[in-house]
Amino acid sequence: MELKIFSKALYSTWVIYKPERILFDVGEGISTMLGNSVYGIKVIFLTHGHVDHLSGLWGFINTRNAAMGDREKPMQIYYPVNNIAIEKFRDFILDMNPRLRYQIQFVPIKEAERIFLRKAGSFERSIMPFKTFHTVNERSFGYTIYEKRKKLKDEYKDLDKTELIKIINEKGRDKISDVYEKKILTISGDCHALPLERINNSETLIHECTFLKAEDRRNNNHTTIDELIEVIDRSEGVKRLILYHISGRYMNLAKKREAEFIELFKRKGIELYIVHPDRLFCL
Ligand SMILES: [Zn+2]
Ligand SMILES: [Zn+2]
Repeated sequence: MELKIFSKALYSTWVIYKPERILFDVGEGISTMLGNSVYGIKVIFLTHGHVDHLSGLWGFINTRNAAMGDREKPMQIYYPVNNIAIEKFRDFILDMNPRLRYQIQFVPIKEAERIFLRKAGSFERSIMPFKTFHTVNERSFGYTIYEKRKKLKDEYKDLDKTELIKIINEKGRDKISDVYEKKILTISGDCHALPLERINNSETLIHECTFLKAEDRRNNNHTTIDELIEVIDRSEGVKRLILYHISGRYMNLAKKREAEFIELFKRKGIELYIVHPDRLFCL
């Protein structure tokens, strides 16, 4: 399994990306749902300080201190620098838990600050936050996970296999390839529809889609399905789109329209998944 998500706008949102053992946001109910699997999380990235993304953090930190597992494993929590709600909640949690068994580090990060997740030989994965537009006073981030990949340099593209092997033997594989960064995953957090440059070429895109009906949106703080369809239409290189942060009012509508949406995105060559607001999503 790669992803485990619970997300219901206004109530609770959390996303586990298993290959890197990352938890994005910590909505309420997460430790109850995870049980001893809280120890499977290595690092937390917070998108912003709204309650539905943050309120499970105290419980999570405590459960990890007391449940059955490696209680001494350190943990880092990255968050948008100067996010007041997160910093106040951090101070409260640390005040209330002066004797945690493990090292906990709250790390404020700036836009485009790269954090390395894993390095082994030429394999390298890192994550970078980007600014999003959510509510006026909220410092909010989305995140992209990058992986270093190699591709054949343009000048060697037309060669056949035997010629290519000959050149590899002569010059070495590194000489004939360019290194580039593949966007493995982009997660939006709460925001307006992301701009194209964020979306383009992201293998998996997890995007908020709070409103399935544009007329239900009173403040322009979240994304509607129509806006998302419009921007995805112009995008390129997205293989998989996961809609989350759907309002609970669409519990039935989301199920009713699911097949229609899947078909719509399939025509663009994109696999679509919906995180229904009433159930755990696993992929
Ligand atoms: Zn939210
Ligand atoms: Zn929010």
